[in-house]
Amino acid sequence: MIINLSKICKEGESFDFSQNDRELTDSLRDLIGSHPFKVHFSLRPFEHHIEMKGEIHTEQDEVCSRCAQEFCAKVDLRIDEILMPRLALGRKDHFSRSPIGVESQGPEVTEYENDQLNVGEFVHEAIAFAEPYIPVCSESCRGLCPTCGVNQNNENCSCAKHHSKASSPFSVLESLKMQDFPQRPN
Ligand SMILES: [Zn+2]
Ligand SMILES: [Zn+2]
Repeated sequence: MIINLSKICKEGESFDFSQNDRELTDSLRDLIGSHPFKVHFSLRPFEHHIEMKGEIHTEQDEVCSRCAQEFCAKVDLRIDEILMPRLALGRKDHFSRSPIGVESQGPEVTEYENDQLNVGEFVHEAIAFAEPYIPVCSESCRGLCPTCGVNQNNENCSCAKHHSKASSPFSVLESLKMQDFPQRPN
């Protein structure tokens, strides 16, 4: 789905997409599979840029980094973008994708070429960018027992009672696990 940005009227226009849009569904399939999605945004042209505001709502299958169970993660993203024609952005322009020392709260700058906004590419990048590095099924997930591997959310094993950490042949593994899957402080 390509939107011709030169044809957006002065008052702005809004757009809605869902899984009824076959092309967008296809371009998001590698990220969200067959989960439903809703994309809503408005475009409003200014003299030198176009303001884009809206939302993306969908779900993603993730594997919990603590308990290794697959779970369905909600994806709710806000779109707050400034669209600038590529040529208007000089290399040393103060707009850039990740400015150093500038708070990240404001709108992001996205470049476009030939007056075109590729909705599939835009939404794909937004979802991929927001995907967590360390997904957890729940903040309170207790993970797998490092010794016997039971899912400690469902079962209580007695490993901790029977083996002192120092004597366990898996103690090295355990410390690895803690580095790989840090628990967030409460
Ligand atoms: Zn989990
Ligand atoms: Zn155990």
